[in-house]
Amino acid sequence: MIIRTLNNVAEMCGGELSSSEAKDIEIQGVVTDSRKISPDCLFVPLVGENFDGHHYAAASLAAGAAATLWQRDKGPAPAGGGVILVEDTLAALQKLSSAYLAEVAPRVVAVTGSNGKTTTKDMITALLEVQYKVHKTQGNFNNHIGLPLTILSMDSDVEIAVLEMGMSSRGEIALLSLLASPDVAVITNVGESHLLQLGSRKEIARAKLEIVDGLQPGGLLIYNGDEPLLAEVLAEPGFRTPEGLQTFRFGQSADNDDYPTGLMTHSGGMTFTTLRHGERAFTLPLPGQHNVINALAALAVARHYKVTDENMAEGLRGLKLTGMRIEVIQAASGLVLLNDAYNASPTSMRAAIDVLQSMKCSGRRIAVLGDMLELGPEELQFHRQIGSYLDPALTDDVFTFGPLSAQLAAAASERFEAGHIFAFTDKEALINALTAMCGNDDVVLFKASRGMRLEEVLHRLKEHS
Ligand code: ATP
Ligand code: MG
Repeated sequence: MIIRTLNNVAEMCGGELSSSEAKDIEIQGVVTDSRKISPDCLFVPLVGENFDGHHYAAASLAAGAAATLWQRDKGPAPAGGGVILVEDTLAALQKLSSAYLAEVAPRVVAVTGSNGKTTTKDMITALLEVQYKVHKTQGNFNNHIGLPLTILSMDSDVEIAVLEMGMSSRGEIALLSLLASPDVAVITNVGESHLLQLGSRKEIARAKLEIVDGLQPGGLLIYNGDEPLLAEVLAEPGFRTPEGLQTFRFGQSADNDDYPTGLMTHSGGMTFTTLRHGERAFTLPLPGQHNVINALAALAVARHYKVTDENMAEGLRGLKLTGMRIEVIQAASGLVLLNDAYNASPTSMRAAIDVLQSMKCSGRRIAVLGDMLELGPEELQFHRQIGSYLDPALTDDVFTFGPLSAQLAAAASERFEAGHIFAFTDKEALINALTAMCGNDDVVLFKASRGMRLEEVLHRLKEHS
C-alpha cells in the first residue's frame, strides 16, 4: 500500500496543498468509498452521475482519513486535516497511481479479453508467486477507478504486478494500458460481451488490442491464436504496432505457438501436456477445457519470467480462483452444484455447458440457465443458439430463468424430449421446482448474467439439500 507524505502525494498527482502546514502528514493507502475509511488514508472524492464524493470529504476526515483530494470547482475545501487541491479528482487518482507504479517499478503484466480475465490473472499469479513477490488485481477491480486503486494498494517491494483490464467501450483499455505501461499483455479471447456497445466482434477485437498502446518497447503480446479477428486487426494498415513488439499465440489449434498435446479429466480436475513443455504434465484443480487454454496463456507469461517447469506445475496445482467461476459445491445430501453464476455471455455459457456435460455423474445433469444481458439487437438469436447447443444425450433437464432465456428454452425444446425443459420468470417458482426435482446424485449448473443473481437460487437449493 502506498505510504507517502502529502507533499509527495501532491507532486505525484499534480495537485497543490491547501496549506503548507500539512506537507509532512503521512498517508497510508487510498480510499474512494467514504464507508471504508481506514486510519490515515487519503480520501479521493469521485464525481459520479448520481453521487458526488465531495459531500463525504469532511466526514471522511472526521472518521480518521489523514487527508482528502478536493476538486477546485467544488467550492471551499473542508477545514481540518490535509487537503490537496486538484482540477479533477479522477484524473489525479490515475496520475497518482501511475507515478506510484513508476516508483515501485515492478514488471507489469496486463490481462484483458472477453472471458477468462480474472481466471487467467489468478493463474498467472499462482505461477509467478512461486518465485516472485506478486501483486494482483483483487476481485474485479479492473476499470479506470479499480486499476488505480489496485496499483495504490501494492506494497513497495512487489516484483511483478498482474493487472486485469476490463472495458465496455473503445478507448478504455488504451487508457488503462497507458496508465500501467505493461511489459507483457495477454488477450484471453474475443467473445460477444459488450457487443451492444461496440457493434461487431471485430470492433471488440480492436478494443482488446488497445492493450498494446502502453506496452513497453520490445514488450510481449500473448494472444489467443484461435481467434482470427485478433490476427486480422494486428495486420490492419492503421494498426499502430509498438516498437519491437514480440507476439506469442496460444490456443487449441496446432497452428499456435503453444497448444495442448494431451488432456485427461479426473475427479481432481484436469491433467494436460503442451507442445512447449513436452512430457511435463500439469494438473489444474478445475473442470473446463477452456481453463486449459487460459492456463496456456499463464504458462507463456511464467516462461517469459523464467519460472522453472517444476515451479509452474506446483503453482498450477495450488491454484485458488476468485469465487463464483465454476466453483464446485457439494450439498450435505451429496447433490453437486456448479456455481458459474458470476456472469454470462454466449462464449462462457458454452464453456460452462461443456463442463456440465463432461461431468461424471450417476444421477442427472441439470442446467439452470438465466438471461445473458447486454448482447444488443441479436440477443434473442444468441439465446436460441445456446438452446440448440445443449446436447440432449449429455444434459437431462434444462431450467431457464428470465424472459430472454425463454427463447433458449424454446430452441432446446426442439431437440429434447417433452418434459425436460422448464422456463421460469419467477425466482421463487424456479426454486420450488428445483427443490422438488433435484436428487442427491444430480449435478446442477447455474449460469446467468450478474444482473440475474442466479446464485440466490443456488444457495436456496443448497439449504434444502
Ligand atoms: P469479467 O468481464 O466479469 O471481469 P472475466 O473476463 O474476468 O469476466 P472470469 O471471471 O475469469 O472472466 O470468467 C467469467 C466466465 O467466463 C466464467 O463463467 C468462466 O467459466 C468463463 N470463462 C473463463 N475462461 C473462459 C474462456 N477462455 N472461454 C470461455 N469462457 C471462459
Ligand atoms: Mg473479471
